[in-house]
Amino acid sequence: MRCPLCHNANSRVLESRSAELGKSIRRRRECLNCQHRFTSYERIEFVPITVIKRDLKRESFDKSKLLRGIVRACEKTDIAAAEMEKIADEIESELQGRLLREVASSEIGELVLKQLRGLSEVAYVRFASVYRQFQGIRDFVEALDRLQSDQEITIDQAIAQQAIDSDRSSPADDWELETQASCVTPN
Ligand SMILES: [Zn+2]
Repeated sequence: MRCPLCHNANSRVLESRSAELGKSIRRRRECLNCQHRFTSYERIEFVPITVIKRDLKRESFDKSKLLRGIVRACEKTDIAAAEMEKIADEIESELQGRLLREVASSEIGELVLKQLRGLSEVAYVRFASVYRQFQGIRDFVEALDRLQSDQEITIDQAIAQQAIDSDRSSPADDWELETQASCVTPN
């Protein structure tokens, strides 16, 4: 940090404290050359994450959109809202922690499934059915097999049947469950 008066590059930090509600660190410095005192702010660099969708279109990662998809999948389950937010938060921080600033929407979908797997089989199958664009019963059976082999939990076949019976006329927008999958009702 160069001194604003003499442009010397060396300074010592007199005091550091949290600023802007923890989003930055304010440091009081003293130039080692002319003893001039000045203040610097250190902030986390924010580089947006780009999501590459199935059709190869790109859009900025939007946590609220991700959360909407999770909420849809978790409707009428016993998963608390705070739990859903936690999933979205964890996925966001995982993506933020990566060096690569681009991620395929399918990968985000798999991250959600990984989290839903242990929470609710209903939410898992709903989410999988939309974002993997299930075309028929074979896809459901495969997803259920996968879920079972991962966790050895039993899925009520009726859940899958109900999901298949639901209107699946238009393909969903990747991991966003806007219009579909709300008709699967657990017991
Ligand atoms: Zn100076």
